[in-house]
Amino acid sequence: MENAATRLAAICANIARVCKPARRDTADVTLIAVSKTHDAPAIQPLIDAGQRVFGENRVQEAQGKWPALREGHQDIALHLIGQLQSNKAEEAVELFDVIHSLDRASLLSALAKAMDKTGRRVPCFVQVNIGDEPQKGGCPIAELPAFLAAARSADVPLAGLMCIPPADTEPAPFFAYLAKLAADNGLTGLSMGMSGDYETAVMLGATHVRVGTALFGERQGA
Ligand SMILES: *Cc1c(COP(=O)(O)O)cnc(C)c1O
Repeated sequence: MENAATRLAAICANIARVCKPARRDTADVTLIAVSKTHDAPAIQPLIDAGQRVFGENRVQEAQGKWPALREGHQDIALHLIGQLQSNKAEEAVELFDVIHSLDRASLLSALAKAMDKTGRRVPCFVQVNIGDEPQKGGCPIAELPAFLAAARSADVPLAGLMCIPPADTEPAPFFAYLAKLAADNGLTGLSMGMSGDYETAVMLGATHVRVGTALFGERQGA
């Protein structure tokens, strides 16, 4: 019988297996359990199994689920992995511990303002449009150095870079490119890799993998 806890153990074992040849320490890879669209009864078994880092892509959905799930677990960290509208910046800063989707100047100024107002400085990954896809979010590669400089001068803590490679394409070159961009810009955090490619991402230096389907099963109506 497969359940969330056994899938969690299998994914952790897979991460450990690829860390070895990559000469990486498993402690340097954070597994983010992406619980978007899943309800509390689906999430609770993972908390019971010891998982403490979760990812959501919508502020409102997370506000509905997490205050109760977090009760008695002050050590749970919530990561916002989805696109963020500037008018939700303050709510996001209040609820989330890390934001993975900082990708434009308007959002940067909204987040800086929200952090000043709430006194919470939430580390942010800058999302990079690594495949140069017009329909996708993410900072254009050519604009990255200037955008990082703007984030630094706005006193928004930078966690690193994040990407979602183009669908149906070999992801490894994009992961390697994101790692190079991070190194070139003095950043160490790399949020990359999802259910289908997290092992590849870990081999190429991911510090944060965002895994949903492989943990929870298929999402309903999402
Ligand atoms: C949903 C989502 C994931 C998880 O995707 P799976 O393929 O279900 O593992 C990772 N990153 C982002 C940004 C997502 O929106």
